[in-house]
Amino acid sequence: MILLNGRETADILNEKLKEAVLKLPSQPKLDIILIGNDPASESYVKGKLKTAESLGMIVEIHNLEDRVEERIVYDLIQKLNHDNSVNGILLQLPIPKHLNSELLIESIDYKKDVDGFHTMNQGLLFQKKKGIRPATPQGIMMLLDHYQIPIEGKHAVVIGRSQIVGAPISKMLLDRNATVTITHSKTTNLAEITKQADILIAAIGKAKFVTKDMVKQGAVVIDVGINRIDGKLVGDVDFESVQGIASYITPVPKGVGPMTICALAHNLYELYKEQKGE
Ligand code: NAD
Repeated sequence: MILLNGRETADILNEKLKEAVLKLPSQPKLDIILIGNDPASESYVKGKLKTAESLGMIVEIHNLEDRVEERIVYDLIQKLNHDNSVNGILLQLPIPKHLNSELLIESIDYKKDVDGFHTMNQGLLFQKKKGIRPATPQGIMMLLDHYQIPIEGKHAVVIGRSQIVGAPISKMLLDRNATVTITHSKTTNLAEITKQADILIAAIGKAKFVTKDMVKQGAVVIDVGINRIDGKLVGDVDFESVQGIASYITPVPKGVGPMTICALAHNLYELYKEQKGE
């Protein structure tokens, strides 16, 4: 069994990106909107800030209070949309329930949509056209490619169909000629399907959900889940039981997480180049 080390891979890819950023005429700038004091969101934002700054990018964080009015967030996004010094805008999710996340994401100029969540970028993905891809699926593809894991002709089973992970990773695997099965909370006989997977992607949000009886011998297992049990991070895959069966597996932490941030930084670089006509 080979560990798909996201931390190490991200470090290697980030080093190359850093060299490319150094050659740009100015520093790409990312503006992050962080609403409230959710500790998990704060920690994700800190990770994004640290990585982007280490790559020579500029990050500005806009901290807004938990009870902020939607109009204030909307106006801030408009201001950033029109600010030529801003190359990427990221609204850290989840946001408080009184705010309409769909409306706010749609209000981001899709040419600054570093997360790739805007309808325009999702549409470009589903039409197989150039655009910004959501960072987590993009990071997974970069990880598979770094380890030279064959995708074409393989049966990929994705557990989860969210707009930020399950749906886009399914399309990206399909575009690389995998045969893709998408499963979700209403799927019956889930284990029968997952047991057919050459590549199994778990993006559910339930700790240790995928157990060894759900995995085929030799499968490549990608664990997207981030769950907290007694302050400890665990994935959607029961790592202990599955590691003896999988040929490759991502750990949690240090698997998909660092690759997501790596892909985000690459997205910012691409947005910068697109905006400046580089
Ligand atoms: P989500 O809640 O939007 O979607 C979960 C999906 O799981 C749904 O499509 C649902 O149908 C499916 N599901 C739920 N119960 C199921 C069941 N019993 N059987 C089969 N499918 C079931 O979650 P999300 O935003 O896609 O995130 C999934 C997980 O990935 C979470 O733990 C999240 O924290 C994590 N995540 C990690 C990163 C990262 O960078 N590592 C990025 C994004 C999300």
